[in-house]
Amino acid sequence: MSPNNHSRQLVAATLLVVFFTPASTLRADTIILKNGRRIVAEAVSVEDDKVFYESEGGRVSLPKSLVETIEKDDKVLTPSSPAARQQAPAPKPRGEAFKKALAVEIQVPQKDAEGVIRDNAVDEDRLNAVASLADKGDLERQNAVNAYLVAAVFEARKQRAAQASHWAEEALRISGRDPNALILAAHLDIVRQQYTEALNHLFLAQSLGPDAPDVLVLLGYAYYFIEGPEKANRYWKRANSLHPDPRLQELIAETDQEEQIEGKFTQAQSNHFILSREGSEISESFSRQILETLEQHYRDLEAALDFSPREPLTVILYPAQQFADVTRSPSWVGALNDGKVRVPVQGLSSMTTELSRVLKHEMVHSFVHRQVQGRCPTWFNEGLAQVESGEDPAVPPATLAKLYASSRHIPLERLESSFMQFDSITAAVAYAESQAAVAMIRDKEGAYQLTEMLKSLAAGRSMTETLRRLFRTSYEEMDENVGAYLRR
Ligand SMILES: [Zn+2]
Repeated sequence: MSPNNHSRQLVAATLLVVFFTPASTLRADTIILKNGRRIVAEAVSVEDDKVFYESEGGRVSLPKSLVETIEKDDKVLTPSSPAARQQAPAPKPRGEAFKKALAVEIQVPQKDAEGVIRDNAVDEDRLNAVASLADKGDLERQNAVNAYLVAAVFEARKQRAAQASHWAEEALRISGRDPNALILAAHLDIVRQQYTEALNHLFLAQSLGPDAPDVLVLLGYAYYFIEGPEKANRYWKRANSLHPDPRLQELIAETDQEEQIEGKFTQAQSNHFILSREGSEISESFSRQILETLEQHYRDLEAALDFSPREPLTVILYPAQQFADVTRSPSWVGALNDGKVRVPVQGLSSMTTELSRVLKHEMVHSFVHRQVQGRCPTWFNEGLAQVESGEDPAVPPATLAKLYASSRHIPLERLESSFMQFDSITAAVAYAESQAAVAMIRDKEGAYQLTEMLKSLAAGRSMTETLRRLFRTSYEEMDENVGAYLRR
């Protein structure tokens, strides 16, 4: 095979890199309020007189009286109907249109011609060897770029976005204007909520091919999270006019609707936040107070967690809803829609201690997500949020100590995944254990170790590895130590 044929074959195949968010976060329902507002949310359930749903920072409840209907799957439930009391039917995938449209076509090597994937892992030695030949000629350079793209796509499929992004950047280091590397890098930036970074890659890609529909689609996504639906839709409509796509049309229709709703909101901005509110119901001075509180928490968390999110955080205040982290259920950040924190503030006209605490709890999750990108065990995420926001424990320490003493506690290792499967009592225990474990680490090892743990997770290590490396301990020992810590 001649070198030319070889090289062509490498880039001939088109592969769909589907946006990878945890499957559980792709399911959503629409809650339609009596005032006409729609909330697209996960894990919507109706219990007694409340409607619960999952938001970025935790479980949120609304009085059922505010809710007109809940659209789940094909069925429409009315909260007062007996059907709504039963377990919800399988919810409709969240932002299905989002997911489909994000299956941007990226030209990647058809084959792993250089053999960089071995034993179900990236062979870094092999990759380095291929890369070291990059300056020998055009073919070698393209082979090196392709090898990095193979590695990036491999990691992306394993949902290791940070590592995938690293390999895409390496491809760009060799060939900074490779359109496929630029598009893949931008795609991964968006997954990682690094929107400004995504724009940098996309502007360069656009300068190479102004009307490439994939580039326009991704520009729409980046702008959606930075500036909102209006600007995003301009790019998506342009992409669709150049290359009509039913998936994109669905996305445009959804976003048109959102634009109409959010269009009624006014925006305020501070250094690190974009705050949206409905002007008539939330006063100028209250929203200023909220921004000041958010900025104060931001500074605290920047110091406490030794990390600064690079992108502004969007917070949307909904006046006619009641915010309550009452069930203290878990949050699982990861869906793209969760780039925005939605805070219902009902009946409040000025800052309260409780609201301030809730905002801080939410913000811890945003910080953790930006740093660790969905790889943080739930117990650590929720423990940090509770400890940093100074919440009262969900279960009194003395009661929790008794559970440990009689071995009726939940092993910490089992609290790595979502708490959603738990009933409310088990969930309260899960929250209390999480808080106790994080407080114990802070008190016994030092607060700085909490930031070391985040860095270790961000580097792709598991919690088991992290505990062993930092504290020479295991999950089993952690359980014993938390029990002892509570008895102290
Ligand atoms: Zn939480």
